[in-house]
Amino acid sequence: MSHGTLYIVSAPSGAGKTSLVRALLAQLDGIQVSVSHTTRMMRPGEVDGLNYHFVDVATFERMVERGDFFEYAQVFDNYYGTSRPAVQALLAAGQDVILEIDWQGARQVREQMPDAVSVFVLPPSREALHERLSRRGTDDAATIDRRMRDAISEMSHFDEYEHVIVNDDFDAARNQLVGLVLAERSRLERVRDRQGPLIQALLSRVEGVE
Ligand code: GDP
Ligand code: ADP
Ligand code: 5GP
Repeated sequence: MSHGTLYIVSAPSGAGKTSLVRALLAQLDGIQVSVSHTTRMMRPGEVDGLNYHFVDVATFERMVERGDFFEYAQVFDNYYGTSRPAVQALLAAGQDVILEIDWQGARQVREQMPDAVSVFVLPPSREALHERLSRRGTDDAATIDRRMRDAISEMSHFDEYEHVIVNDDFDAARNQLVGLVLAERSRLERVRDRQGPLIQALLSRVEGVE
């Protein structure tokens, strides 16, 4: 049975990873984003179960103790984690899965799944990052300042990733991300895995032909 590919996408808050991932999902089939659990407050417009599974700290800690998380980390002042059974079920069903997680979570995932493909999204400048965080209109001034400070330490981990995309022109960055997923799908080992019957049919000997 074919098995999906796991992608890790990290970026400082506001660099555009959620927008890029959404655009990728609109363009390609067979790929889904994992919905994380978080203890942070819901933003206006966010939907429980769609953007995140919003839980309280006690619930999150219980899940940690039960080993429910594939990875989890404290980011800013909140906990974020990826459900192990949810991701495993999607991969086993042959779906590619994207994790939008921070660098600490990315390290934990690489240890468990060295085949995961990792991508870091950088903003074109610090000013642009600040502007995007402000324009998004989901966070107050204190939260934006905190995220700007944390952005520098998040970005310092960019060289732990196999791929780096600078999200300046949105369409160009989206094409880069789509191109990366398509290139990954054309790798020999993935094609062997997914196209077994086709390859067998193409290579079977016909009588009288060398
Ligand atoms: P945004 O980056 O501005 O959209 O802000 P969020 O509050 O949605 O995410 C905050 C941080 O948490 C980001 O750095 C994410 O990469 C990280 N994050 C989100 N979900 C997870 C998760 O399941 N696990 C880990 N380790 N990090 C996560
Ligand atoms: P993240 O998930 O990394 O926190 P978002 O996807 O929420 O980032 O993007 C932050 C804000 O920046 C959003 O308002 C989004 O519309 C905007 N944005 C994303 N990419 C670009 C881009 N290339 N040019 C201009 N604005 C962008
Ligand atoms: P936000 O609160 O703005 O949605 O996300 C802030 C940061 O948390 C982002 O950088 C995001 O990548 C990270 N994050 C979101 N979900 C997870 C998760 O499940 N695991 C980890 N490790 N980080 C996450």
